[in-house]
Amino acid sequence: MDDLSKFCCQNPKCADYGKRGAGNLMVNMRYGSQKQLRLLKCRTCRERFSERKGTPLFDSRLPEEKVVAVLSHLSEGCGVRKTSRLSGVSKDTITRYALLSGGHAQQLHEELVAFSPGNAGSAMRRKVGLRGQKRSKLRSE
Ligand SMILES: [Zn+2]
Repeated sequence: MDDLSKFCCQNPKCADYGKRGAGNLMVNMRYGSQKQLRLLKCRTCRERFSERKGTPLFDSRLPEEKVVAVLSHLSEGCGVRKTSRLSGVSKDTITRYALLSGGHAQQLHEELVAFSPGNAGSAMRRKVGLRGQKRSKLRSE
């Protein structure tokens, strides 16, 4: 039996959207060269989606270990160039994953944190220029 408690429906229109362990998901089929990936189906809205949907691994053409290596270098504070050297992955690809995983982290934050200063916080970040810094760091390093 597959443990699907860490997954949730990815259909924003669904009543069970974003709810983990709600018992609404089932494995519809397996796919991938080793049948290692699952296509999940939501019983509530009948939508089907990849178990990777909503993660930086969705539609990833790199082997999973490479993606994990890239993301761990980035999270350790390595720049794009250094990560590229260490992992043998092109800089463009790394930038793409960095942006994807940033979005994913933001989504997770929205989902997991009940109260977030939200707009006030991002206005603050804009004011002190942290957002711009992060982007230009990605580009220039
Ligand atoms: Zn659903």
